[in-house]
Amino acid sequence: MLTAVQNAMRRYWGYERFLPLQQEAMTCIVQKRDSVVVLPTGGGKSLCFQAPAATLPGLAVVVSPLIALMKDQVDALTACGVPAARLDSSLSPSQQRQVFTAIGSKTLKLLYLSPERLLSNGFIDSLKEVELSFIAIDEAHCVSMWGHDFRPEYRQLGQLKQVFPNTVIAAYTATATEQVRNDIAEQLRLKSPAMLVGSFDRPNLIYKVQPRSNINRQVCEVLDRHKNESGVIYCIRRKDVDQLCAELNQRGHNAAPYHAGMNDEQRKYNQEQFITEKVDIIVATVAFGMGIDKSNVRYVIHTGMPKSLEHYQQESGRAGRDGLEAECILFYSGGDYGLWQRLMSDSPPEAQKIANAKLGGMYQYCTGGLCRHQAILRYFGQDLDKGNCSACDVCLGDLEIVKDPLIISQKILSCIARLEQKFGAGYTVRVLRGSEDQRIVQGGHNQLSTYGLLKEHPRTTIHSWIEQLAGQDCIAKIGEYKVLTLTPKGWTVLKGQHTPRLFEPAHKPAKVSKVAADSWEGVDRGLFEALRALRKRLAAKSRLPAYLVFDDASLRNMARKRPSTHEALLNVRGVGDKKCRQYGQAILEVIGDYCR
Ligand code: ADP
Repeated sequence: MLTAVQNAMRRYWGYERFLPLQQEAMTCIVQKRDSVVVLPTGGGKSLCFQAPAATLPGLAVVVSPLIALMKDQVDALTACGVPAARLDSSLSPSQQRQVFTAIGSKTLKLLYLSPERLLSNGFIDSLKEVELSFIAIDEAHCVSMWGHDFRPEYRQLGQLKQVFPNTVIAAYTATATEQVRNDIAEQLRLKSPAMLVGSFDRPNLIYKVQPRSNINRQVCEVLDRHKNESGVIYCIRRKDVDQLCAELNQRGHNAAPYHAGMNDEQRKYNQEQFITEKVDIIVATVAFGMGIDKSNVRYVIHTGMPKSLEHYQQESGRAGRDGLEAECILFYSGGDYGLWQRLMSDSPPEAQKIANAKLGGMYQYCTGGLCRHQAILRYFGQDLDKGNCSACDVCLGDLEIVKDPLIISQKILSCIARLEQKFGAGYTVRVLRGSEDQRIVQGGHNQLSTYGLLKEHPRTTIHSWIEQLAGQDCIAKIGEYKVLTLTPKGWTVLKGQHTPRLFEPAHKPAKVSKVAADSWEGVDRGLFEALRALRKRLAAKSRLPAYLVFDDASLRNMARKRPSTHEALLNVRGVGDKKCRQYGQAILEVIGDYCR
């Protein structure tokens, strides 16, 4: 049976191999065993149920929380030639009738639904008449109150096992925690399910963190590396979204805003513009993202620190779903920490305690000098199996490790002590740089032995070191004014008993990561651009988002292999029978013209 599934993968999707755990996940369905499949974004969860659904007799029902997600997947399946449909409130009565007819005539292989629709009385009864191959629950963490996205409607899915006791249920999520995983199995009343948990590492994401100084300039530097590519920029507040978006458009970029202060229609319009690649950049608050399956997002910029690593993983994870390299860069400042604390100050004390711990973890990620892939994995209780990820600022050597961290730390900590632990970071930095600021002179702090001790270093670097020391628990920031004080660990540093790690932003140009170099290897960039232009035309004609016609990985493969026949084109990853028939001639012409 699995051979049939593999044949379907080749025929419909043009995929030769399984991604990690896909084979195991599909085997569960084929062998009629319930399963909970946990794979990161971009891990290929959809194929785990789509390929068996295309092969097994009967109809697979897929539960999904959002119309946008359902639409995206049904469009993608239809483009590959797999009979699929969705039933949701956005369809007209006649469109809904068409779907029912297709169900009745047994031509459909996958049906996407919301949980409410599935569990409505009349509908359940009509499904009992249909041969179901299995039921897939997408975004299954929505069933759990421990997850970040609980939906009460999902809770009712617990009834499914009673109504369809002999039908296999497969649940899929990208949420990593064990608590959520077990809760999914329990809430859905799965029968001794297989728990398939993949690695959360996203090796194709290149993580970078930098202290924020001049954010407009910093953002533009990133955009310069990604001309004409799709990307998302996250801001903490709406007003930052509007300002940055206006600024970018003024500088000739092509950006649209997205936040909760806009009305539904405006938001939907801007999202659509982004998906169909009429704008390159979305500047957004975290309100943007759920339901975005666009596979070729090549960068995600955070202009401020998110409130937890869970949030960061989810937001940055929207980059590089196609498995190709993508840049995730985060600009932070100590001020973000305080901003989040103020924004959370109305929540109940217990919730604040948890939120503060998460905020602390996030801040440590920013200021620590640990490999970013490793840091994220450890947070989620996993470990990286390689010493150097070759895909973060730390491992690429973008950050220069300070040679004498103990002496620098001692200078900073001793200055804080001599200021009697009564001043904030800004003031301390000015004293260390030997500023002649009136307040410093009047306070007599120009007489301190630590005055001007770090005057050869830029202000931003010293600020960053203070943040790094705070991140390593050597300095605490107290009260509303964030007064710097020494922690017990800070005192051990002063005594020379512990050496913190300090780094400074490197002045050398960033290295090209191995993931980027590999994925472009042998690719003719000129041909890739020509194919990209063709894809845009084909997409407009088929009224599909460009990435559903072919993803970037498939285009790069074409530009690498340069097929000259339909047969050779079929050997390119991502080209199945239907797409080859539909678009093959146009592609071969573009390749032929280019090579001539
Ligand atoms: P998830 O739902 O886990 O975020 P997707 O199902 O969207 O991931 O898949 C991510 C990307 O990987 C998609 O572009 C998909 O087409 C591609 N993909 C999935 N399985 C395979 C495979 N076996 N071989 C090649 N590409 C695959």
